[in-house]
This record gives sequence, structure tokens and C-alpha cells, in this order.
Amino acid sequence: MKRREFLKSSVVAGTAGVLLDACAPPGSEQIIPLLIPEEQFIPGVEEFHATTCFECSGGCGLLARKIDGRLVKVEGNPTHPISQGGSCARGQALPQAMYHPDRLRSPLVREGARGDGHWTEVSWDDALDRLAAELAPLRADGAGLAFLTGQLRGHRRELVRRFAAAFGGARHWVHEPFGDATVRRAHELVAGIDAFPAHDLEHANYVVTFGAALVEASRSPVRFGRGLGHLRRGRPGQRGKLVAIGPHLSVTAAHADEWLPARPGTDAMLALSLAHVLIRDDRYDRAFVDERTEGFGAFRDRVLAAFAPETVAATTGVSADQIERVAREMAQHGPTIAIAGDAAVTGPSGLATAVAVTHLNALMGAFGRKGGIYFDLVPPFTPYPALEEPSELEEPRPLADVLADASVGARALLVAGTNPFFTLPAASGVADLFSNIPFVASFGSFADETSREADLILPEPTAFERFDDDVPAPGVGTSMASLSGPVFVRPLHDTRAMPDVLLQVGQRLGDDMAAALPWESYETALRVAWSGLHDAQRGSIVETSADRFWRSALESGGWWDDSTAADVEFVTPGGRYRFEVGPLLAGAGAVAEITAERPFFLHVYPSLAFGDGRSAHLPFLQELADPMTGTRWGSVVEVSVAAAEQYGIANGDPVAVGSAQGELVARARVVPGLRPEVVAMAAGQGHTDYGRYATDRGANPLALLAPPDPADGSELALVGTAVSIRKVTDVVAVLRTGSRSIDV
Ligand code: SF4
Repeated sequence: MKRREFLKSSVVAGTAGVLLDACAPPGSEQIIPLLIPEEQFIPGVEEFHATTCFECSGGCGLLARKIDGRLVKVEGNPTHPISQGGSCARGQALPQAMYHPDRLRSPLVREGARGDGHWTEVSWDDALDRLAAELAPLRADGAGLAFLTGQLRGHRRELVRRFAAAFGGARHWVHEPFGDATVRRAHELVAGIDAFPAHDLEHANYVVTFGAALVEASRSPVRFGRGLGHLRRGRPGQRGKLVAIGPHLSVTAAHADEWLPARPGTDAMLALSLAHVLIRDDRYDRAFVDERTEGFGAFRDRVLAAFAPETVAATTGVSADQIERVAREMAQHGPTIAIAGDAAVTGPSGLATAVAVTHLNALMGAFGRKGGIYFDLVPPFTPYPALEEPSELEEPRPLADVLADASVGARALLVAGTNPFFTLPAASGVADLFSNIPFVASFGSFADETSREADLILPEPTAFERFDDDVPAPGVGTSMASLSGPVFVRPLHDTRAMPDVLLQVGQRLGDDMAAALPWESYETALRVAWSGLHDAQRGSIVETSADRFWRSALESGGWWDDSTAADVEFVTPGGRYRFEVGPLLAGAGAVAEITAERPFFLHVYPSLAFGDGRSAHLPFLQELADPMTGTRWGSVVEVSVAAAEQYGIANGDPVAVGSAQGELVARARVVPGLRPEVVAMAAGQGHTDYGRYATDRGANPLALLAPPDPADGSELALVGTAVSIRKVTDVVAVLRTGSRSIDV
């Protein structure tokens, strides 16, 4: 035996003796994993495992770096089509989620009243028995069960749908605060395709964004950031132009060549005014419009009659000259792409904005053109066998729609990947909805404001400890899917992934459920689906057996096929793009008003570090200074220079922001990049129950928003909430700002 081995075994033996001693000090069991590792490794040698980031909808491929069996770092996967070696700060912070001290470690059953925060740890057998006992009586009327989820990724959505159908018609409600529902709805209306499209930014010359926080938080920051970087600097001698429209100088607007500070809620009007100029001056793609579209006449007549630049200039706050010039540039310097997102499509007139912007793209002939817009092809997964007796399933329904419906009547609710108690205002009625449902179970890796209202908490492993897949949307215009497997031999804590729990509880709910969900694990279910990619015998992995294909896909972090042509076929009854005017009539002229009592619009935008708030529990991201305001570990309210002068507010002053929903206090940040009638705040802070690093830190502007109107089809009313501001002097209110360190 070598000296080093002798010393190691002596230490292990000695330590084991200590640990077996009942008098060992608390926490000494932590020594064992360091000296008796759960998996084999060579000390000091690093390992890399391909994995996927699920922190936002980007679905970036990552490489997890392990040293001595510990996850120490993640980097972008250089071969993955979305990330191409890149990752954002939220991806980089993920190892902190893995070893976070506030992770849920075992199933928890509520003790006492809901919301009290008293829990008892139980075994998984007990938790599954409890879940099955609560669900079994509902099988006679399957609609008594509802799922409430965020936007489910990959085959998780298929598993939930299958469980709901086999259960007898369980319902599925969706709440994704900064989601893409209106953009997908717009493309369904005009192209017959319910999808967020891919944008060929690398070959575009001119990009106009309506509210979309592309670089910092929208949909796929790494993908958009790289595409826009190439647009601007990736082609020697050719520099594309980025124009950002919105009331607030966002990170994207700061990176743009031109920022047009339009009034909140006027994006649809502005897009239609640009369309007016393009049509009036005959500068649109006439060949595309003639050959591939329908309904243009009614759209043209409407736009020419009502949206002349001089007509909309006063309302939008953008001068007629600017509108004329940008429209001219769009036509002259194409290929041009218009992209709508975030506040511009979330709230009143959101669908009108999304439709108006797709019409701009149609006028530019952007669909299916190099430097334009594509619809990603669905990878050739093997479909799961049809159910013998499938129940009628309603389409997933927005939570805002459910909250407005008094006849919901669910008896049990399974919550996963969404936190409506944080992201919705109290007046939305989410607390009433929960209190009327006798049993609530919540899945997740961390307790939050919504799981606090549950009866049973079922802890999930992190992305590094489970099998999962994703079809990123937006993708890159080809057929692709991301895949993740566990980076470790077993989860760090006693956790199980939500799809695995559904499979296991399905076994307890009767033979028909067991037959409908026949896989022993989610890994098995994924392997079945992914065998279709092996059978296709094309793309990045071509193997001789499905087993070898699966291993290669795990090692690569997914499968992609660059040779697949992007889909440019419209799936409307006539096979043509439809110039729908209905949503425009309903929403393009509707502009919210401020009042003398509340003379500002509140503009809430997704945070670069926290998104909608789901990443606020990671201290690395709390420590990260916001690139525009310098804020760390807290919140600021951004006020314009004019408003600051009017109210005598200076940088760092505590300011109360009040709406019809309530009031919050945050430090002021006086910014030049803001319309004078707007105050702005980033979402993400102000948690009341989200672990030691996020709780009671900063303020939550989402709580001030008006409740979402189901007619908008949006999850939040990000546009149109009127607020007042006042400088605060009393000490208690100042302490409530919760800001530990603000760089002002
Ligand atoms: S862009 Fe989204 S998916 Fe990609 S690394 Fe960042 S948080 Fe993760």
C-alpha cells in the first residue's frame, strides 16, 4: 500500500469510527461524502457532462464541469445549436442551485393551517400513498383534477397530457408570466401555426423590436445575443441596424442603434403606421403579398385610413418624421425582421401588437426568406401509443381565464413550474382559487410563495440530477432537441422528478392508468420517444442501435439536423398567410389613460438576473449588478429626470409607488432613458418566501399590476397600470425597501 492510500484509509477508518459514535457532533456526517465518494473519480481530474439549462425558455446546451465528484462550473456547450458555447449569467449560476442550503430534501406534508409554513417530512411511499388517496375518488369525474404549470418543456407536456387523458379528462391551466402566448396566438391566426418562430438574425440587415427584451431576458437571450452580435459585427464591411421601440431604455435598447421611446401600449399603432408608409409608398414585398397571402385588401384599407404617421404621432410619442424614416429604412436596408415581446404583447392590446408586427413581417416578405423568419420543424420523435379510451381534453387554459371563471370546481390541484402567488397581484383571486380546492400538491426544488399554500410538497431534483428534454422555441430554424441526463450517480437529496411521480402514482390509480403510463421511469419514456430520432438515421447522430443513439445523444446534449429545410408552409385553410384585421380592430386603438391621482404608467420588465423572479434565490445573481441601474441585492424604482425634478427626488431616495392594488417602497434611480409619464421596475425581487437569499429583499412590482383581463389572452397586465409616486421620509417605510446594497 502506498503512503497516500494508507493515510486515506486511516482517515476513513478513523472518521467512520467518529461517525458511528452516537455522540458525534451535529453535521459530522457531512464528512462521509468527501472521503467515501458516491462515484469513482480520479482526484484533480475534471469531467464534463452535457446538460441543458431550463432556467428560461432558451433551452441552451451546457457543459457541466465536475472535479472530484463535485459540480464546480457550467459553460455553454460549443456544439449545441442554441448556445454555441455561450451561456448567460443565469445559466452560470446554476451550480448554486445544486448545492443550495434551502433545497427541498424530502417530501413534506402540511401541519396546521395552509400557509402557516409548518411541515412534516415523510417518505416517498407515504407521499405517493397520500397523493393516490386524494386523487382516486376523483377518477369518476376526471375534471375534478387540474394541473397548474408554467410552460412545460419537452415531453413533460406530453406526460401531463397523457396522465390527464387517462385520468378521465383532468384539466390543465398554464401561468407563464413573461410567456409567448400572444405571439404564438398571433402566428396561429395568420399562419395556422401555434409557435414562436425562429429569426435568422445572422443574415438580416435591419431588426426592429417592439418591447422585446431580446438581449437580457426575452425567450432566449443567448441565442438572440449571438444573432444580434453577428448582425452588427459578424460580417466585415456590413453592419446591420437594430431599432428598439419601448418606453424604457432596456439593455436591448441600450445596445440598439436607435431607441424610439414610444408611449406604453401604443406599439400596435406604431407597427400599423410603419405598415401605412410601406403600403402608401408601394415599398412592400408585392410578390410575397400577391402570391402567398390573403385578406390584404381589407388590411390595406384599414391601415391607409387610420394609421398615417401624423395621425398617430401624438398618441405614440414618436414623431411622424421618425416613423417615415424607419419605414423607409426597413424597405431599403433589408432583409428586415420585426420582433414583438414582453410588455408590448402582455396586457391590453398585446394580441393586436403581436398581429400587427407579424403583418409587418409579411409586408417585408420575411417568412421563409434568408434573413427572415422560419418555423422550426418538430423533431421526428416516436409518438406514444394511442390510449384505449382517451377522455376529452380541453386545451391548456391560461390561469387568467380560469381566475375569471366562477365555475372552476376543481377538487385537487397539482402545481409545477409556476409561482402565481408571487407573479400575480392579490386582486387576481389566486388565493380564493386555491382556498376553494381541497387538496393542492406542489412540485419543485425549492419552496416558494405558492408551495407554501399546498398540502403536500414533492421535491424535484435539479437539472443536473434528472432526465429531461426540450425543443427550444425559438430554435434556429431547423429540427433539433436538447437532452439532459443526470450528471451524478444519484440525486443529492431524496427527490424525484415530476414525470416520474406521475408514472408512479399512475400505478396506484388502477390498471387502466398503469396501462396508459407503462414506463418504469421518465428515462424509459424519453428513450421510447427519442428512438424516433435514431430511426430517422439523419442529423448530428447516426448510430447502429437505439441504445447507442441514446448514449450519444446524452453525451452530445441533444440531437440536431442542419440539413432539414425550415418550414415556410402556411397551415391556414387557403394555405396562405392571412392579413387578419379582427384583433387590430379590437386592440390597436385602445390606449390606457393615466389620471391626475395616479399620473404615471408602471412599466414592469423581466430582470436580466432573475427573469420573472424564479432565479432570485441564487446569491450569485443577487450579487450581479444590473447593467442599467447598478442594483444588487434589492430593487430600485426608475423615474425620469422630469419626474424627479417635479417631485424633488434624487438618486437613492426612498420612493413609494402606489396603484389601485397597493403600495411598495424602493430606492429611486433617476434615469434619462425613460418616458416622463412612466416609472419602471424590474420584476423578480420582493419575495416573501423563497429561501434565505431572496426572502424580504427588495419589492415586487408585479403585485401592483391590475389583474389580467382574460380577454387579452395575457398572463399579466404589463401595460396600463396607473401609479402615483411620492418621496418617503418615515424610517419604517425606508427600512421596508429591503435594499442592502445599492450602487447609486
Ligand atoms: S439564455 Fe436561458 S436557457 Fe440559456 S443559459 Fe441563459 S437562462 Fe439558461
